[in-house]
Amino acid sequence: MRHMLTTAEELARVVTLSDDERHGLAASKALFRTGLTPYYADLMDPGDPSCPVRMQAIPRAAELEIRGEELRDPLGEDSHRPAPCVVHKYPDRALFLVVDRCAIYCRHCNRRRLVGGDDPPNASEIEAGLAYLRRTPRIRDVLISGGDPLLLATAKLDDLLGRLRAIPHLETIRIGTRIPVVCPMRVDAELVAALRKHHPLFVNTHFNHAKELTPEARAACERLVDAGIPVGNQTVLLRGINSSVRSLRALFRGLLRWRVKPYYLFQGDTVIGTDHLRTPVDAAIELYAGLRGWMNSMAVPHLVIDAPGGGGKLPIGPTYIVERRPDAVVVRTYRGKLVEYPEARAQDCAVPYDRVFFAGVPEDDDREGSAEVLDLP
Ligand SMILES: *Cc1c(COP(=O)(O)O)cnc(C)c1O
Ligand code: SF4
Repeated sequence: MRHMLTTAEELARVVTLSDDERHGLAASKALFRTGLTPYYADLMDPGDPSCPVRMQAIPRAAELEIRGEELRDPLGEDSHRPAPCVVHKYPDRALFLVVDRCAIYCRHCNRRRLVGGDDPPNASEIEAGLAYLRRTPRIRDVLISGGDPLLLATAKLDDLLGRLRAIPHLETIRIGTRIPVVCPMRVDAELVAALRKHHPLFVNTHFNHAKELTPEARAACERLVDAGIPVGNQTVLLRGINSSVRSLRALFRGLLRWRVKPYYLFQGDTVIGTDHLRTPVDAAIELYAGLRGWMNSMAVPHLVIDAPGGGGKLPIGPTYIVERRPDAVVVRTYRGKLVEYPEARAQDCAVPYDRVFFAGVPEDDDREGSAEVLDLP
């Protein structure tokens, strides 16, 4: 971290900067910090500005073309903040933003308004966040994010996880981190020993391209999985970086071989200065159609749009039902063949299917009625 590359001079020592990148670096200073680890810099192609690793880390001039529809806070997180470090917009789960630093400042970051700035969350804000989580029993899952939580000192992270674990209604804890991608050596035996004390704990990481699948990254992921920590991956679909069926298949297959489950594939958020990195929605759907059915479905993530304003993550994809009739639906297979699927005939069945479904299942404890009910979108 001390050796992060942050300036054009430092970057020029490892790659031949293009005019586009030089312009981007000079102008983006005022917009969003640049920074990457020497390890990640080593993955860049020194002679090719269209290298997918380089395009994620080095700003280009197009970042300055801010469009009217682009937002500082595309997901409406700031209007769903019941406590300084907490984003709560789903009924049963919340984000806990505990740190504002990363080991890379991704050019596509949707939280660029918060990360790498000069207003880090302080101890009393984190206390206020913990207090909110403690007094809101309908939260069953907390997702620790930021910034990158694995940049906290191990002892500090251990302490934070312990305090979350002491909250009886928190069932699962997740950590969102790009450390396995950009600083995999951070995931050492000491860190993993601290994390595994707090099960059920999950890690979601953020690989975007098969070039990032190195022996070091593999060791980091496998150390986590071997400690019983399921690792998922969230990829952002990025124009010219991973926007081809071949690239996505290589990435997702590679991750699955490491026992990392591709979890989400995000359509790019409408964050300022990222228009050049987004693909059309129809292109995303077409790419997805090249995955589903064609490869092990364990390797196929959910394709989602995170709705502007805070509506949450919505699955999108090809339409597989092409026609509805009273007695059947016509479906299209992944190979494009039309097949008729007959509906059940006994629609007037004496026992309502929902009562059958729930027979013998204990009633879920409903925590909706807790003191603080938010205005959910
Ligand atoms: C993504 C997200 C979550 C977690 O959503 P899942 O679909 O359960 O992974 C929770 N809270 C917020 C605000 C989020 O953006
Ligand atoms: S690691 Fe995550 S939070 Fe940090 S800059 Fe990249 S996308 Fe944003």
